[in-house]
Amino acid sequence: MPSGADVRSGDRPDAAFDAQHAPDRALIDTCVHCGFCLPSCPTYALWGEEMDSPRGRIYLMSAGLDGRAAMTPTFVRHFDACLGCMACVTACPSGVQYAPLIEATRGQIERRHDRALADRVFRAFIFALFPYPSRMRIALAPLALIHSVARPFRAAAAVVGRPSGLPYRRPRALFDSTPPGVFARLRAMFELAPPITWRSLSARVAPLTPAVGARRLTIGVLTGCVQRVVFPQVNAATVNVLAAEGCDVVAPADQGCCGALALHAGRLDDARTFARRTIETFERAGVERVAVNAAGCGSSMKEYGQLLADDPAWAARARDFSARVRDVSEVVAELGPPRATRHSLALRIAYHDACHLAHAQGVREPPRDLLRSIPGVELVPLAEPEICCGSAGIYNLVEPDTARDLGDRKAAHIAMAQPDVVATANPGCTLQMAAAARRRGLAVAIRHPIEILDASIRGG
Ligand code: SF4
Ligand code: SF4
Repeated sequence: MPSGADVRSGDRPDAAFDAQHAPDRALIDTCVHCGFCLPSCPTYALWGEEMDSPRGRIYLMSAGLDGRAAMTPTFVRHFDACLGCMACVTACPSGVQYAPLIEATRGQIERRHDRALADRVFRAFIFALFPYPSRMRIALAPLALIHSVARPFRAAAAVVGRPSGLPYRRPRALFDSTPPGVFARLRAMFELAPPITWRSLSARVAPLTPAVGARRLTIGVLTGCVQRVVFPQVNAATVNVLAAEGCDVVAPADQGCCGALALHAGRLDDARTFARRTIETFERAGVERVAVNAAGCGSSMKEYGQLLADDPAWAARARDFSARVRDVSEVVAELGPPRATRHSLALRIAYHDACHLAHAQGVREPPRDLLRSIPGVELVPLAEPEICCGSAGIYNLVEPDTARDLGDRKAAHIAMAQPDVVATANPGCTLQMAAAARRRGLAVAIRHPIEILDASIRGG
């Protein structure tokens, strides 16, 4: 993490950055302002505004370090609008490391910027709920009760506000510093709400599932927060596939949140606390790999080495832990020739790259190879594969209008590809694209690739 020694305006109360973990000047200076990243940036694609592009945001960070920009609401809005999707990292020919830059910037914003009361309360609510599965179960219990009743309301919510099919580029004032209102955020929550059932709320993963046949690896599975409550079938499929492929699968019952939501939102102290607990839990489990089926969680767990680099008691343990973390599709690839028989599934599948898998982790082929290993599957491409669907952690809750535009854009591409199933490896993307598909009236299933492989191994 950067020292912040380069901050020239740190003693001004409205300074953009103080000296505590400011964005690293050396990383900023690797940007040569070529603009190759601009077409991949979702906010630049929507608005065409330089300050809402990667190059513009890096320029703002530099201006903040130099004392030419202050921590104003406008300054903050440009960084709040960033999805943290890391498409710019993939596109950049100069190897600019945008992730540590935006994480440091967000860390400063969360620590020093005085957000409006409603904004503060909404964010506090999210961070008091989502990282804690037991609280989520309680909060989502009413949804299980009214699940069938809620469907028509969700359809109605899709009609309220802007209808789908609006032009992609809508006007936006460059210096608009007002965060989205409470109504828009609550509407987004309602619209994104998943079809919760009592079964999903009570589902649990067995602490140990033995390998089928001779053991190849002992693997820990992160069951996640949203994943274990909202999509327990993805965890069940992960365990089934790994066991069928010869792994002893350990799912420690005492595991908590990995800290991904906190890390990506700039709540770095919270993220470090979650990271230490996760490392301890899987060290105790004695596993050779830790498999993750949620892209955002995997990317943050692979970053623990950097997150805890300044902590002498944890730096080496964090590096060692991160080196053992894999997306579940990477584990399947690493295991080599399949052991379990794949049965035919006649499906047209469009694979959507979750940003935190493709851009942040550089994992693109293993999930596609996993799907290609299933007889009968036809992979069809989606247009604009590098552009985020608008989910981005808590982004679709705190920036609902932008997220909705990006969701509609993705749904339009899905409609053109006409798949039976969209496969994606992140629970946030699943919820986001399902909501966008409902708005557009698309009859398409959204599934994790490991669920599709599990269905194939089970025979249909
Ligand atoms: S992380 Fe995504 S939204 Fe943010 S600047 Fe990079 S491409 Fe744009
Ligand atoms: S592509 Fe890389 S070097 Fe070029 S403007 Fe974007 S971040 Fe800077």
